[in-house]
Amino acid sequence: MKVHNFYAGPSILPQPAIDATIEALKNFANTGLSLAEISHRSKEFDAVYIQAQEMFKELLNIPEGYTVLFLGGGASLQFAMVPFNIMRKKATYVNTGVWAEKAMKEAKMFGEIEEIKATTFHALPKNYIVSDDSDYIHITTNNTIYGTEIFEDLDFGSIPLVADMSSDIFSRPIDVSKYAIVYGGAQKNLAPAGLTFAIVRHDVLGKVEHKIPSMLNYKIHIDNMMYNTPPVIPIFTALETLKWIKANGGVKGMEKQNIEKSQLLYDEIDRNKCFVGTVVKEDRSRMNICFVMAEGYQEFEKEFGAFAESKGLLGLKGHRLVGGFRASTYNALPKESVQALVDVMKEFEAKH
Ligand code: PLP
Repeated sequence: MKVHNFYAGPSILPQPAIDATIEALKNFANTGLSLAEISHRSKEFDAVYIQAQEMFKELLNIPEGYTVLFLGGGASLQFAMVPFNIMRKKATYVNTGVWAEKAMKEAKMFGEIEEIKATTFHALPKNYIVSDDSDYIHITTNNTIYGTEIFEDLDFGSIPLVADMSSDIFSRPIDVSKYAIVYGGAQKNLAPAGLTFAIVRHDVLGKVEHKIPSMLNYKIHIDNMMYNTPPVIPIFTALETLKWIKANGGVKGMEKQNIEKSQLLYDEIDRNKCFVGTVVKEDRSRMNICFVMAEGYQEFEKEFGAFAESKGLLGLKGHRLVGGFRASTYNALPKESVQALVDVMKEFEAKH
């Protein structure tokens, strides 16, 4: 039976990226050695690292003055690294869900936080004003758990904008020049777990007075390529994923497919009498599509979950905070998988 991977992360990767990684684990760049057993300082891996940085720049059209870093520690370490490196006194955090809240919790250790929050996490806060004395403003562009997404590149004038893009990086074009720092865990749209990316604009650094431990210091990583041993295997897979994105129309191509896929599923959620979406329409994520059983059908939740799984649809269980279902429809998920889910939803409706 064909299986369809709707897991929220780690999650589906392009098959060519998986295949190339398997090959490299057997014989990396014709060295006769495995990717798992070669020095990160070898000329062969050096080339992978540099090419991955260059493909980031090319695909996202990153201007001069930024460095792409490949780090460890997950997006969760960035929650602390960002304030450690750039907060002098005060920052503004847009609290749009669990991850945004965790980022804010870390930042509170470094200074005063102004919080912006909507009355519910099923919609995004709108038209907010950020205090002029904020050192930066932090947003989470895609809220993996609640299924909301900020599509616009926000502009707060001279206040640096920092974005956690763990779950929507490379899903659409972004104007990097609007951001001071973009970071994320790579284990959704890019690579296996273990890799963190950070795109850092140099001019936001060097303004704090306290000392920063080397491993947490962006400047150290910028000045010393591979300051320590990086996650070699995920970086290799990331490069292969980036090549696949390029071959499939770049981020514009990804965006087009992501619009089509998400529309297909949201249309079915809105049409089907058994299901209802959890997010206000204008804020619906294209990456994590959340839905629950409609009124009168709640008792069938378990049954639908089991039915979907029996049809090879994996990873659909919603996060415990939202309940119901979450279909993660990252770049590498083909439209056929979304169609398979829609077909199963229709079949389920016909039975009830
Ligand atoms: N931020 C967002 C938006 C996420 O979805 C996640 C994980 O799912 C994280 C941060 C945490 O990432 P990590 O596990 O890499 O620390």
